[in-house]
Amino acid sequence: MSHYLPAGLPAPMASPDGLDAPFWEGALANRLIIQKCNDCKSWLWGPEWICHGCLSFDIGWQETDPEGIIYSWERIWHPVHPTFKKEHLPYIVVLVELPQAGNVRLVGNLLGDPKQTVEIGSKVQAVFEQHDTEDKPYALIQWQTV
Ligand SMILES: [Zn+2]
Repeated sequence: MSHYLPAGLPAPMASPDGLDAPFWEGALANRLIIQKCNDCKSWLWGPEWICHGCLSFDIGWQETDPEGIIYSWERIWHPVHPTFKKEHLPYIVVLVELPQAGNVRLVGNLLGDPKQTVEIGSKVQAVFEQHDTEDKPYALIQWQTV
């Protein structure tokens, strides 16, 4: 599988305290896993130690359907890292809202033509981009319109 962004970018990793580790482990297994409060059932994103809804410390993780809608987006023309050459630009970053998971929003890239027309509210599905040739495998959750 090809990768959307050029090789040489820093690999993402779980935070040292392990707070977001289930998210990254889920992505490696082609699953979208989001925090959910075990007390008030609120979905949470980004990962937190305390529930925003009820201040509970009892926060778990739950798999959700890997689909959402485009809440916002941006076409990136500026090379934000030395690995970006002219042929890698532009690319599209989307903010994807998950209606089935409390409308939490995740940032990702929109696959396909980088000059495509993007419409707010379009349905997208997750693509689990596996990076298994690295020392430490990881997966990025990208998005494509459906
Ligand atoms: Zn709660």
